[in-house]
Amino acid sequence: MTDRLYYHDSFLYDFDARVVEALMFDGKHAVVLDRTAFYPTSGGQVHDLGMLTADGQQIAVTEVADEENGRILHFASEKLAVGTQVHGAVDAARRRDHVQQHSGQHVLSAAFIQLFNMPTVSFHMGEESCTIDLETAGLSAAQAQKAEQLANEVIAENRPVAIRFVPLGEARQLGLRKLPPKQTGDLRLIDITGFDLTACGGTHVRATGQIGSILLRKIEKVKQGVRVEFVCGLRAVNTARRDYTTLTEAAALYSSHIYDVPEQIRKSLAEAKAAGKAQHRLLEELAELYAERLLAPAAGSPQIITQFFPDRDALFIKLLAQKLTAGKSSVIALLACGAGQPTLVFAQTPGQKSNMGQLMKDAMAQLGGRGGGSADMAQGGLATGAIDDEKLKSLLQETARKL
Ligand SMILES: [Zn+2]
Repeated sequence: MTDRLYYHDSFLYDFDARVVEALMFDGKHAVVLDRTAFYPTSGGQVHDLGMLTADGQQIAVTEVADEENGRILHFASEKLAVGTQVHGAVDAARRRDHVQQHSGQHVLSAAFIQLFNMPTVSFHMGEESCTIDLETAGLSAAQAQKAEQLANEVIAENRPVAIRFVPLGEARQLGLRKLPPKQTGDLRLIDITGFDLTACGGTHVRATGQIGSILLRKIEKVKQGVRVEFVCGLRAVNTARRDYTTLTEAAALYSSHIYDVPEQIRKSLAEAKAAGKAQHRLLEELAELYAERLLAPAAGSPQIITQFFPDRDALFIKLLAQKLTAGKSSVIALLACGAGQPTLVFAQTPGQKSNMGQLMKDAMAQLGGRGGGSADMAQGGLATGAIDDEKLKSLLQETARKL
């Protein structure tokens, strides 16, 4: 079995070892070493990356996995023979980040237990942020803030974090926050002095101050409870920096202070809504005027109106069709517009014998668009730029002749 050097020192990045097994997995080279400082993916913490150097040649470690039988597999970019002496170098920046996130999780999970008796049921470490799932029916923003505050106080107190190995029977007496599901031999306990005691095989800080800070992010309901997203240490700084840049950009658009951005957005949305309403009212009035101009009292019955509006959109010709066919006289309106998506609207005053839906289907079959509707009102649309104005106009004339 591999001697896990990281069990005793999370800040050991360089070590010497010997290859005791060489294997192939899915076409990838893997080696087992007699001792290693590389952390394999387990307990929610992601594996280390780094290099193995043998005879002056550098070989990249691309993944580290923990097998059920206790073997640690180092996936390597090149083959290494059994018996080779290697020098291992763990990517220190990546490890430090993982140590901050993982240790921060211990503190945060303990804070949720102490304040609200909400146990952590799972932990996930992602590339950008981490999450814990709490077993609870709900978590208010105020509660989350309180847990964040307590966790950061524990970090500021710089409490020592001790590792010790204890037999299972003895560990049961100690009131651990969490006992591993199956365990043989001694338990590895992580003791945040005076705050949290739990069993864990991961890599941790020497004292809570090394976590730096904890910043809580999104809180969402999930099947098993509530998911809390968080970032620790340098990730918290990078996240806060990104948030600030985003807010600053948004504030510059409104020429306001960043804290006034929500109020500015509320105002803008209200203004946009009011402007939309006003525009719709104007459009209705315009449609009304157009309808009055197009309707001729002396015309035959039904009066057939064909009209193409190159600069108007679908909403306008729909409104116009409604106005034209809402009166007492019998009207058939064959309208088309060119702004945005070219659209056709066919409508008739209810109670006449023509079928607008069928006429529209025929028109669309001819033009290669999609559309349909009822006997009195139908609409069809064409892809933007699919047809020129002249062709649309002549189609309206052709449809009028069919009536
Ligand atoms: Zn841990």
